[in-house]
Amino acid sequence: MEFRADFVDAVGNTPLIKLRGPSELTGCTILGKAEFMNPGGSVKDRAAKAIILDAEQKGLLRPGGVIVEGTAGNTGIGLALVGNARGYRTVIVIPETQSQEKKDMLRLAGADLREVPAVPYKDPNNYVKYSGRLAEEIAASEPNGAIWANQFDNIANRQGHIETTGPEIWEQTQGKVDGFICAVGTGGTLAGVAMALREHNKDIVIGLADPMGAALYNFYKNGELKSEGSSITEGIGQGRITANLDGVDFDEPFQISDQEALPVLFDLLKHEGLCLGGSSAINVLGAMKLAKKMGPGKTIVTVLCDSGSRYQSKLYNPEFLKSQELPVPDWL
Ligand code: PMP
Repeated sequence: MEFRADFVDAVGNTPLIKLRGPSELTGCTILGKAEFMNPGGSVKDRAAKAIILDAEQKGLLRPGGVIVEGTAGNTGIGLALVGNARGYRTVIVIPETQSQEKKDMLRLAGADLREVPAVPYKDPNNYVKYSGRLAEEIAASEPNGAIWANQFDNIANRQGHIETTGPEIWEQTQGKVDGFICAVGTGGTLAGVAMALREHNKDIVIGLADPMGAALYNFYKNGELKSEGSSITEGIGQGRITANLDGVDFDEPFQISDQEALPVLFDLLKHEGLCLGGSSAINVLGAMKLAKKMGPGKTIVTVLCDSGSRYQSKLYNPEFLKSQELPVPDWL
């Protein structure tokens, strides 16, 4: 018999899928790490697992304890499901602008969901800071303890990618990977994979695919945390150097607009059967830009973070797309 022991054991070991169109257009082999195939449906299952196991090892969580987090949704879904599997309650703070589908999934999983207005990080009521204060309050009265997962500045997050995502990519490509690129939410995925792959090959090229509205492109290009424009993508778009990004440099930063990335996403669904979320669009277009920069014949890996079904009401909704002056899939 071959099986995974439980939900937590089923996280990771996702396949690499060749993206035919992007590969043909660039003359490179562009591979997507199919993170939407994780049991909770996104790359963030890995961070949730790593953070919870780390807290258990440090003795911070006891059976019946509470996990508190501020999240765009996917980390919350991962924490709620890992929490259910291991006997913890979850309290999740989410900006109200995030997709209905993710909020519904959080409620379905039994998370105690607190929706807050979407305000910038510098505002004390920003969802991340709010969740930190809430965790302190809950910890004060909770007999079994409460932790703040703190995915942005808790480096157990990137450690999970150093130990799993990076080595998986190295093994699956038999070390023939020339470049890796993805967008940043917390930076756990990009920094963790970069650190793991550079251990094997210090010359590997690491790209950053930054959506409009994020400040990292300018930071890695010219040292200035500056943003312009905006994006409808969720879960990515960082304005500061989180602890997960700290100490890691990236070779090739790209700034990518929704306008340019969404047609790639729609093509992947229509012609390759891959129904993906918005951050995957930024990642795949980033991989194509990196491929063009590096020249034909290279193997470039990126991340397919979650499924398009998590954003049906926005990303695949013609009315919403038109209201944002974005391209609409021609079959919808
Ligand atoms: N894509 C999606 C859909 C996400 O939810 C996230 C996490 N916020 C990311 C990408 C970014 O991953 P990371 O936090 O590891 O940078």
